[in-house]
Amino acid sequence: MTALKTLLTASCLLILSGLQAQTRTLYNYQELSHVYYEKQKDSLKRAWTCPVLYKDKATQKKYKEFWDDRTTFITEAISHDSYVHEKDIVSYIENIIDQLVQGNKQLLPARPFLLIDRSPSVNAYSIGENIIAVNVGLISFVQTREELALIIAHEMSHNILQHTDNAMKQKAEWLTSEEYKRSLDAVLDSKYERLSRLKKVLEGYSFNRSRHQRYHESEADSLAIVLLKKSNIPFNATYFLRLDSSDIQYQQPLKRPLKNYLVAYQLPFEDAWTKKRSKGLSTRAYNFNSTGTIDDSLKTHPDCVDRYTRTASRSTPNAKYTPIPAAIKDKATKMLIWNMYYNRSLTPCLYRILQEKDKGNTDEWYDFMVNNIFSALYYADRSLHRFNAIGVTPKEYISPNYFELQTLFEQIPRENLEQVCKTFQNEGFWKDMTPAEKGLKNLLYTLALDPDDSDKNKAKAAKEFKANNTASMYCEFADDIEKK
Ligand SMILES: [Zn+2]
Repeated sequence: MTALKTLLTASCLLILSGLQAQTRTLYNYQELSHVYYEKQKDSLKRAWTCPVLYKDKATQKKYKEFWDDRTTFITEAISHDSYVHEKDIVSYIENIIDQLVQGNKQLLPARPFLLIDRSPSVNAYSIGENIIAVNVGLISFVQTREELALIIAHEMSHNILQHTDNAMKQKAEWLTSEEYKRSLDAVLDSKYERLSRLKKVLEGYSFNRSRHQRYHESEADSLAIVLLKKSNIPFNATYFLRLDSSDIQYQQPLKRPLKNYLVAYQLPFEDAWTKKRSKGLSTRAYNFNSTGTIDDSLKTHPDCVDRYTRTASRSTPNAKYTPIPAAIKDKATKMLIWNMYYNRSLTPCLYRILQEKDKGNTDEWYDFMVNNIFSALYYADRSLHRFNAIGVTPKEYISPNYFELQTLFEQIPRENLEQVCKTFQNEGFWKDMTPAEKGLKNLLYTLALDPDDSDKNKAKAAKEFKANNTASMYCEFADDIEKK
């Protein structure tokens, strides 16, 4: 039995390492939304004509404004590569969507259009017109297929209940209503305290809206549970409580002292770099006593406890849950880490990598990313933008370890940073990297370490990278350098 177990474990490891090598390529450059959805974007623009709902011209005009804003929002997000069509993740989620559609043919006559949003935030959203978007941050966060299905069903419910459309209508109606005009006139007529009166008018509106939104949320939860049950997908109300913890990712401490992770690469490290000297990036007093309590208004998902309480009795008894496949989680996590890197949020990016290491993840892709982070920091330092690259996270969200890392990035002396980048050039992991990753190494060398600091030299290296790696997702990074 034990021998068999060992054998099984060994073969599992083999399969796993095989998988790791396969998941190296996350997606192709051509799967970024500005390329992949180029045609859909144009047809969407044509198809989305605002229906005429109001006889009143002003109301119809306002309504059309909101309608067109939404079209602009989505088409611009596509152009700016907010989305990516990563095949494995898309087909995994479409499989869930199909099951929901199959079980609810009347409510869901057409299959929703799915977008994978590259944001690391643990969220999904619906924008009406049968479109839903799921963030890679959510895919990386959820543990089971059923947990993901609940959130997808919730977003589909918003679309079924036409929440976006109704919100646009209500807003258009309110802003062109007699009541609104009268209250605005009253503000303008009053000689005193115009501003505070105006605030009152606007607050009245936003208060109504937030009450409406809360109602919409519980309505969408209710319908989501129905959709799940009709599709034979178990519902578990504790998933709402888990969502509550999604905001405290960076409040989790590391398993080892920060130093340990860095000296593993033979990098220089001095404790003093992680201790706040005086003035700098974030001189506000950081008080970590209150960890674990984030103001509800700062949360991505307020009301989680309420949502749990309201739905607890509808949980499926004795349900079996399906874990999210490791390859899907692996891809989503790497995608969100790359996206944070690309957006120059270097501290959260490295912190996420260290958290992966804490989980026992030994994939060398993460070592490659640690190199990229230090090279980018040094490159930013050379171009006098170091602070912009650090990516400061508000203190409510971070652990003392995170604060140390942020301080290290801020205070590590330039010459030591250079030394870090040089040390990385000869690390053992490079021999297993793909040509694209080695190509990015060369490009980052040019940016950070090349004595020729000219823009021309940098643009040339970027161009060269793109020519040699036409399908690589890293071309996005090279694009930016070339354009500068
Ligand atoms: Zn919602």
